[in-house]
Amino acid sequence: MITTGRFAPSPTGRMHLGNVFCALLSWLSAKSKGGEWRLRIEDLDPDRSRRDFALQLMDDLMWLGLPWDGEVVWQSQRSDVYEHYLKQLQETGLTYPCFCSRADIMATQAPHETDGRVVYAGTCRGKKLDEMAQNKPFATRFMVPNEDITFQDGHYGLQQVNLAKHCGDYVLRRKDGAWAYQLAVVVDDALMGITEVVRGRDLLLSTPQQLHLYRTLGFQEPTYFHHPLLVNENGQRLCKRDKSLDLSYLRRKHKNPDEIVGFLAFLAGILPESTPSKPQELLPLFDWQKVPTEDITACI
Ligand code: GLU
Repeated sequence: MITTGRFAPSPTGRMHLGNVFCALLSWLSAKSKGGEWRLRIEDLDPDRSRRDFALQLMDDLMWLGLPWDGEVVWQSQRSDVYEHYLKQLQETGLTYPCFCSRADIMATQAPHETDGRVVYAGTCRGKKLDEMAQNKPFATRFMVPNEDITFQDGHYGLQQVNLAKHCGDYVLRRKDGAWAYQLAVVVDDALMGITEVVRGRDLLLSTPQQLHLYRTLGFQEPTYFHHPLLVNENGQRLCKRDKSLDLSYLRRKHKNPDEIVGFLAFLAGILPESTPSKPQELLPLFDWQKVPTEDITACI
């Protein structure tokens, strides 16, 4: 079977070095196996996603020398598809409407037990639906079993997570009607024929939620490779606020994309030093074994 990888950015700002690192690793991982690499724009959040950011992102990928295969998939155009699979999940009896407000959910939290994560206490599970009759808006949640989900990450090894303890029943569709990332990512990766998911290790613990959906819907599971994050000198993850590392600044400073690609390949352990390179030239050198597992400080 041919390897099909993907890059699935959210167009909520200009790409920064951390996004480019993710794009480069997933491109190299798929292409070094002779595979395809698809692009999906994750523009589900109507308040934060912008089409101009998505178009800029495509221009940046081309500039960097990271072309994608096939049509670009825009999540904002796929509501009917998500609706279809939500129905299928509803028919299993494993979903339920949730009327809780954010304040209700926070009130049931014991933060010391969850490192700041929000674990839904199942307040609306099996509840008599008086609110339903009053036509109140509701989110749709998916029930999780109280058992461990295990999977082998290609880079971080065996992972084992109990969803009931980790997150509780999770949202498939928000109260405002927006589709949740977890549902959309699974449906799209499965229907796009993605066999290999490469992304930052901040999503490592979302993976069991996604696998639970894969297994319930009977989709073929992809292989996962999570990568270390790029962090700033203070050990904080790079984000869209670090303006000096976003591509609008970097494209002005480095007229040549090969400098940025070579620098990232050096950080990824693929090159012994930061030598200007084209992604294509890195293909024979790429090996997951060279990529560190600890986060990487990036100062350019
Ligand atoms: N859209 C997500 C992000 O930009 C990535 C989702 C994924 O790779 O599964 O963080």
